[in-house]
Amino acid sequence: MPAPTMLTVTSSEQLTPHLVRVHFTGELTNFSGSTETDRYVKLVFKQPGVDYPEPLDMKALRGTLPPEQMPVVRTYTVRRLDTAAGTLAIDFVVHGDEGVAGPWAASARPGDELPANGPGGGYAPREDVDWHLLACDESGLPAVAAAIEALPDHAVARVLVEVAGEDDVIELDEGEGVEVTWLLRGAPSHDVPEERAGKNAPLVQAIRDLDWLPGRVQAFVHGEAAAVMHGVRPLLLVERGLTRDDVSISGYWRRGRTEEGFREWKQELARTEA
Ligand SMILES: Cc1cc2nc3c(=O)[nH]c(=O)nc-3n(C[C@H](O)[C@H](O)[C@H](O)COP(=O)(O)OP(=O)(O)OC[C@H]3O[C@@H](n4cnc5c(N)ncnc54)[C@H](O)[C@@H]3O)c2cc1C
Repeated sequence: MPAPTMLTVTSSEQLTPHLVRVHFTGELTNFSGSTETDRYVKLVFKQPGVDYPEPLDMKALRGTLPPEQMPVVRTYTVRRLDTAAGTLAIDFVVHGDEGVAGPWAASARPGDELPANGPGGGYAPREDVDWHLLACDESGLPAVAAAIEALPDHAVARVLVEVAGEDDVIELDEGEGVEVTWLLRGAPSHDVPEERAGKNAPLVQAIRDLDWLPGRVQAFVHGEAAAVMHGVRPLLLVERGLTRDDVSISGYWRRGRTEEGFREWKQELARTEA
């Protein structure tokens, strides 16, 4: 695995009350050839007071450091990338004081450094389909926004975005044929009661109620894990009968769980389904 890319913060901007864009600069050779619109990095947050050997090798560290000294790893979409200029931007959901990455982004300052492993990724809008379904909550919005910008000319897309409130609506590249619907849940996702989360999330209902267009659809659906995996996935794969090749769907985070807890949730789900 190549050494992580060292990202250095150049500036940040508050896009909405719950979304902060952090601009970075770095030597982005690891990113050349990456064409997926959902390309993501694994950001590495070092524990204060621990001296790590450089370059940071997470695999090697796992064998040598006690768990409490291990860096914390968080996954984020690359919202904008210019490898020639050596610039990259990430949009972070700010979800209160809990967690590592959200609070870090809220107070990021020019000069702050963050190692990033990757990129990974698995989706880009295709040309051989009749229409595109793009659906997400705030965490999937960077990937959906990047997908919209990469849609082929004359593409038809239905975009459903669930956010906390009106102030969380951002401008998207709505070309002809691209119809964006904003779904206001009334509060940040971690704050709403169960009646508006998981299978009951507005996003799930909106996909159920969508006027389905004729022909072959390619779907990209990412957001809170219970909403996406328990609510939307059966709708697409079972009720609508889409094939797995035409669907990119996964949870990006899980209510009430840190990213470590979410990884366990995913493993439990995979075991149950196997
Ligand atoms: C491939 C991929 C791409 C992703 N891209 C992005 C991206 O571009 N932007 C982005 O913001 N997130 C993105 N995420 C989600 C992000 O990795 C998680 O939200 C992560 O848990 C945030 O880490 P944290 O340290 O802030 O909080 P954690 O320490 O993981 O969690 C602390 C608490 O905050 C809650 N929490 C975590 N995320 C959210 C949230 N979004 N809303 C409300 N509560 C939350 C948790 O449930 C937990 O209770 C992506 C995830 C994946 C798998």
